[in-house]
Amino acid sequence: MKMSNSLVWFRRDLRAFDHAALHRALTSSNRVYCVFVYDSDILDPLPRDDRRVRFIHASLASLDAELRRLGAYLIVRQGRPLEVIPALATELAVDAVLVCADYEPDAVERDAQMAERLSNDGRKFLSLKDQVIFEQDEVRTLAGGPFSVFTPYKNAWLKRLAAMPEALASYPVDPYAHAFAPPLGSSALPSLSEIGFEPGEPPLPAGMEGAEELFERFVSHIADYGQARDFPAEDGTSRLSAHLRFGTTSIRHLVRTARQMIENGAGGSGATVWLSELIWRDFYSMILARNPQVVTCSFKPAFDAIAWEQDDELFSAWCEGRTGYPLVDAAMAQLNRTGFMHNRLRMVSASFLTKDLGIDWRRGERYFALKLNDYDLASNNGGWQWAASTGCDAQPWFRIFNPVAQSQRFDAQGEFIRAWVPALERLGAKEIHAPWLVDTDVLAEKGVVLGRDYPLPVVDHDAARKRTLERFAVVKKTSSQFS
Ligand code: FAD
Repeated sequence: MKMSNSLVWFRRDLRAFDHAALHRALTSSNRVYCVFVYDSDILDPLPRDDRRVRFIHASLASLDAELRRLGAYLIVRQGRPLEVIPALATELAVDAVLVCADYEPDAVERDAQMAERLSNDGRKFLSLKDQVIFEQDEVRTLAGGPFSVFTPYKNAWLKRLAAMPEALASYPVDPYAHAFAPPLGSSALPSLSEIGFEPGEPPLPAGMEGAEELFERFVSHIADYGQARDFPAEDGTSRLSAHLRFGTTSIRHLVRTARQMIENGAGGSGATVWLSELIWRDFYSMILARNPQVVTCSFKPAFDAIAWEQDDELFSAWCEGRTGYPLVDAAMAQLNRTGFMHNRLRMVSASFLTKDLGIDWRRGERYFALKLNDYDLASNNGGWQWAASTGCDAQPWFRIFNPVAQSQRFDAQGEFIRAWVPALERLGAKEIHAPWLVDTDVLAEKGVVLGRDYPLPVVDHDAARKRTLERFAVVKKTSSQFS
């Protein structure tokens, strides 16, 4: 049945193309309004120069400009969505509020409350799949259960897609634009200062155009992705993670393009590897949706018995990039200064925190959550539990990254380290990975005195490795879940 008025509430889907909720609203209502709410509960604790708020702010400007091109506009409010949305729905006399589904436990709880409040007012709340290709239990084992190992999940995901190509169908907006409610006057979007934040540029090209620009550039060298993606000094990956996080691009659009490139041979092996990474994203989203306890607990409960170190000094050294292990410090410098960290370095630095410093993965996960532009609860939690060996399909506990070997292998010439740790910029490729092993005279000639210009290592890797094996062995003795 056709609705009279409806309201699309944008959250992590800041675009006006290939959009499930917008498409449904436009094709089933006479008049469609659009709203974004700066959620005060999320924004209040953030630093006033938060990079993600700048990214959202710039992306909303891009969304509003596109909506205006289509004859529509974006209403922007600030407050608690559970108060703002029902009040706006009443003001606009809408029959329904439509959203793209969010699978994070807090969002699920909020949406359940929203549905109830709207229902009490006689309105519908419609939540549609949009941010993943397959959600929740759409991909199941032959026995009908959930997967907890990636490779069989990926194979089943690919099979499911072959059987259900409509999962990649586009949700067009343009042809139905006549159903948008026209703008009321020339109301401007609030500035960053007006929402209580310091003015500043977003940390990467924002909005739909920003995403498309990055994607086009990446597609031109996607064939090299399989080789280049592991080397942080190279421009080998797409850098689309923040755009996927905030929905300024469509996951269906990315998967469609990758598949076309695989089918017509234009993407080399790189497009196939890249598609796998997008499937990892669906995998972790499914794991979180089905196992919301992973937010605070290990996926494998036995691992919650591990006695982690409570060393605030070491934790601060890690956060601030002062561990004395150049690759780890360079990684943390990249994170602290830009809000991005290369995937290889996320693995190395998370492994270093949990296996070399013996510190609880939850502390590292929280730190990444504060800093990452692309922070996504499902992928961050999945990545941390992988590195800590507590997760589903995780790195086996006895396989411990050697931070020096990782550095020699993935930043062989030391280019990445030199770019982020200026104190070491004169060291050669042989010296830069473990400066404490270099003769002090040689270091002094290059302007480095360890302990003054650059820290001595905060732990000895071999000794730390031994302690970690013992720490995990305690769990082994007490549980059959240990693997
Ligand atoms: P590309 O290599 O171009 O990959 C394309 C897209 O695939 C990414 O944008 C991302 O959406 C997805 N993807 C790639 N690798 C993974 C992965 N391992 N797991 C899930 N999705 C993946 N990713 C986040 O988006 N947000 C996070 O908060 C996050 N935290 C992480 C924490 C740790 C400890 C680890 C090990 C990984 C984390 N990742 C996270 C995954 C990965 O590091 C980033 O997605 C990737 O580095 C983003 O760069 P890119 O867009 O250039 O990726």
